[in-house]
Amino acid sequence: MTSTLPTIGHLIGGQLAPGGSRSAEVFNPATGLAEKRVLLANQLTVEAAIANAQAAYPAWRNTPPLKRARVMSQLKILLEQHADELCALVTAEHGKVLADSMGELQRGIENVEYASYATELLKGEHSKNIAPGMDSWSEFQPLGVTAGITPFNFPLMVPLWMWPMAVACGNTFILKPSERDPSSALRVAELALQAGLPPGVLNVVNGDKEAVDTLLCDPRVKAISFVGSTPIAEYIYTTGCAHGKRVQALGGAKNHAVVMPDADIANAVSALMGAAYGSCGERCMAIPLVVAVGDATADAVVAGLKVEIAKMKVGPGTDAACDMGPLVTKAHFDKVKGYVDQGVAEGATLVVDGRNVTVPGHAGGYFLGACLFDHVKPGMVTYREEIFGPVLGVMRVNTLQEAMDLIDAHEYGNGTCIFTRDGEAARYFTDNIQVGMVGVNVPLPVPVAYHSFGGWKRSLFGDLHGYGPDAVRFYTKRKTITQRWPSAGVREGAVFSFPSSK
Ligand code: NAD
Repeated sequence: MTSTLPTIGHLIGGQLAPGGSRSAEVFNPATGLAEKRVLLANQLTVEAAIANAQAAYPAWRNTPPLKRARVMSQLKILLEQHADELCALVTAEHGKVLADSMGELQRGIENVEYASYATELLKGEHSKNIAPGMDSWSEFQPLGVTAGITPFNFPLMVPLWMWPMAVACGNTFILKPSERDPSSALRVAELALQAGLPPGVLNVVNGDKEAVDTLLCDPRVKAISFVGSTPIAEYIYTTGCAHGKRVQALGGAKNHAVVMPDADIANAVSALMGAAYGSCGERCMAIPLVVAVGDATADAVVAGLKVEIAKMKVGPGTDAACDMGPLVTKAHFDKVKGYVDQGVAEGATLVVDGRNVTVPGHAGGYFLGACLFDHVKPGMVTYREEIFGPVLGVMRVNTLQEAMDLIDAHEYGNGTCIFTRDGEAARYFTDNIQVGMVGVNVPLPVPVAYHSFGGWKRSLFGDLHGYGPDAVRFYTKRKTITQRWPSAGVREGAVFSFPSSK
């Protein structure tokens, strides 16, 4: 029965290509029905993509940066023109509401826009007369074949964090999207060809561990960008580094929002609603934990959230009236629901139970309503682990320092925020908290495309953050040239002391 499903293949050397003897079903999470099959690349298929990327590299490396940047400008226009089509693909495979798919597309487009400034970003550094008649400059050369491995939760945006800047810097690229929602990244790669990207500069291989392991071990691949869960990020980092590659691996998260007693509680509650339940909580910058300073603050936040949750509409992402769609797969639904069961068993107070939500006409969909816990404690598994679903837990502490100690002791350090009217408290928090991205009255402090994105602690393995200025450094290697042209006929004797400017 499933053999009649449309098949999603790969894009290799500018051609849609089959490859690999295995495949996986791609489900519509709003119905629970398998609607497509995605081919899972084997080693040979990935090696074909690497060979194409390597063949395309010399000409692309020597293409003037302005011409490379123009492809990005053209791609931006095409992405805007194809926005509805791309967002429909995301919502059909991921489940998020269309407005949210539009949001991620827009963030992706902003990364393409930033990559179109590559001529400015690649200018390098120049120093004249470092010694008499001697000049020195640093230039940023591409690495060669680079690769990216991306998660299911931002199937459009996260690939656009990576490959546009990599290719704008003169590299060629192999993208391995999530096998759970692979269509939109492949469609964007087709649009890139239409925008003028030469065949082989960007290749897309769909697949799973076999494809990833081939990329990790092949010596022709010089650098790997990864975004996904922490255990896989750590595996990618250690394996890629062991094979001599440059690796940046962004991992999971468990972000805390601190609410101070002086905060504007109504505003904080609205902000927390979107941050906790937007995209069904399937965001690495989502807020699954509120740390309320003082019982009165906690009581007010819980009461406000209860009122707002009652107004939420859960349903298919294609229904513009819905706030929250389904979870991505049945397996993920079971996992998240299991965490809610566990939270109850661990003794947290389940204030709002979304486990029995029903969506008329969508009995097979993976819908879970918003869940709200109060009295979450640090020892609980549901506190420590990333749930990645519509589950918000409230914790109660007595001081800001107690809240900060809790955050700093946590394994993850991706994002955090503080709600307050007190500038001194906000400044102390932003200065000292051990987290990579921090908001003040901003629940999702996701950096814009011209800053870089990355967490601390076990939310990131590697030195450089994703996209923005760090991406230019990640996808290039510095070469420093020191040059002297002696005047004709001038001969100097040998110098045995170390050259310096003394
Ligand atoms: P995942 O780690 O399961 O998968 C990510 C990628 O790794 C996919 O392409 C997948 O095919 C591949 N993969 C999975 N298992 C593998 C294995 N054993 N060996 C090699 N490759 C493997 O993550 P996911 O479930 O797709 O995405 C959700 C996770 O991503 C969450 O933990 C979330 O916090 C994280 N995330 C982090 C960021 C960030 O910037 N820090 C952004 C988005 C998502």
